[in-house]
Amino acid sequence: MDIGASDDDGTRNRPLSVWKERDSIGGRAVDALVMILDGPGCTWSKKVGCTMCGYNNNVDRNAVSEKELLMQVEYAMDRYESEPYIKIFTSGSFLDPNEIPKDAQISIISKIGDAAPSSRVLVESRPEFIEDKQLAALRRFVADLEVAIGLESSSDIIRARYIRKGFTYSQYAEGADLIIDSGCLLKTYLLLKPPLLGEWGSMEDAKNSIADIRDSFPGSRISVNPMNIQTNTHVERLFAAGLYRPPWLWSLVDVLRQSKKETGKDIHLMSSPTAGGKRRGAHNCGKCDDVVLSGIGEFSITNDVADLPAPQSCCYGKWESLLMSSRVDPLSADRT
Ligand code: SF4
Ligand SMILES: [Zn+2]
Repeated sequence: MDIGASDDDGTRNRPLSVWKERDSIGGRAVDALVMILDGPGCTWSKKVGCTMCGYNNNVDRNAVSEKELLMQVEYAMDRYESEPYIKIFTSGSFLDPNEIPKDAQISIISKIGDAAPSSRVLVESRPEFIEDKQLAALRRFVADLEVAIGLESSSDIIRARYIRKGFTYSQYAEGADLIIDSGCLLKTYLLLKPPLLGEWGSMEDAKNSIADIRDSFPGSRISVNPMNIQTNTHVERLFAAGLYRPPWLWSLVDVLRQSKKETGKDIHLMSSPTAGGKRRGAHNCGKCDDVVLSGIGEFSITNDVADLPAPQSCCYGKWESLLMSSRVDPLSADRT
């Protein structure tokens, strides 16, 4: 439910978007208020940019004043109805002072804390911007501050070569340690099916990454984000050339099922596939997509593998045989 939009008059007093959605905290379904702030966007995307990211295609790169940012937050919080979870996105890193100056970060979280003192607040950041002093300063205004890092893969080779993320696992681990030591909560995003890995290789990478995070940061949350094709990206060019297919939903189900069995209660796994069931997002044959997505949504709340969908006759067998081919010829399931 989208309940807000940016100004058309050149001012930047409104967020790019505000909506409400379902999410989970501690194994129960909760309502979440989500806002995308209208800031200058990701610094990394200006320098190099990740192969799959089109978040900054239409971003106004000019800086935004603290006053404008606070007006945006006020606009979003006017729609707050005691949701236990508030998510702040910036199409970049909330903790990057080039995007949002440190004082403005504090003013924003303090404003949200005033209106929603018992809600959990999520922000996102690349690890190089995470500092313990700033986290401690932000943490005191809200009940829980959750910081999400888009690690994408625990493999430095895959992250550098296929995603172009520009930081290492040890930088991620350093940032994650600071988050936990500051009394904040860690959430990690993993990317299912970076380009050129193939269906089988990408599932192996996701499973290995979940196991690595479980070993380093038990008790944290992981969102497995299957690739969606965003405009004007390297991945879109592969897609257009018939060399890339977003992952099958069965691949996501298998990663969640196997990893949950192995990590048990150590990790809360979730997934909310952007463009799920569509050609540009994770999809199956079209007949079973809705039921499979609904099972994934239920599992993301309960973390009970019994909630994951059972194989469906329409395309499970086809997926299994494509998967086997992609073990030998990684891109065989991608070519169209
Ligand atoms: S994925 Fe994140 S770090 Fe990479 S370019 Fe996009 S916003 Fe920046
Ligand atoms: Zn199907």
